Amino acid sequence: MTNAPIIGVLALQGDVREHLRALSAAGAEVRAVRRAGELDAVHGLVIPGGESTTMWKLADAFEMLDPLKARIKEGMPAYGSCAGMIMLADRIEDGIAGQQTIGGIDMVVRRNAFGRQVDSFESDIDFAGGGILRAVFIRAPWVETLGGDVEVLGRTRPGDRIVAVRQGPLLATSFHPELTGDGRVHAYFVEMVRRDGRER
Ligand code: GLN
Repeated sequence: MTNAPIIGVLALQGDVREHLRALSAAGAEVRAVRRAGELDAVHGLVIPGGESTTMWKLADAFEMLDPLKARIKEGMPAYGSCAGMIMLADRIEDGIAGQQTIGGIDMVVRRNAFGRQVDSFESDIDFAGGGILRAVFIRAPWVETLGGDVEVLGRTRPGDRIVAVRQGPLLATSFHPELTGDGRVHAYFVEMVRRDGRER
């Protein structure tokens, strides 16, 4: 792989453009991904925030669920934000009837977990031990339980809810770093994809 990894953003639904911009700023070559052929061409994938129930239905309709599961199984680096975190969870709570995910991270994620009290809020997160960042949450999920191979990268303060995790090449955050202009989470993911390319 050259210095600029090719990173796709799953563009079925959600805030695709903001992620494309943040990934470009972090040094990636970016592509919108809607079809299996486009998925084949990327080294890593971002699954944006939006609405996980709609994203799942569209992924099913576009016949993308199986190709996505296959790439994740092969070890493609992926980063899911908010609805994208739900899509990367092996199990979910408070999903709609029959709601499926792509899976990959051994965790239970609760949809709209903060949303019963508040629709959106901000919190300072110590992300991956790399310093405090201001995180924006919009009808956000949280990680309810996690398996032994999942590393916690961030918690809300106060509240101590798990809102950023990593399992090998898979990264997920409950919050939306693409909306704040703070490039650290995207830079972290671009580095994950670069490293994965060097190891292959
Ligand atoms: N509540 C949404 C869902 O269940 C996620 C919200 C978001 O991505 N901002 O998919």
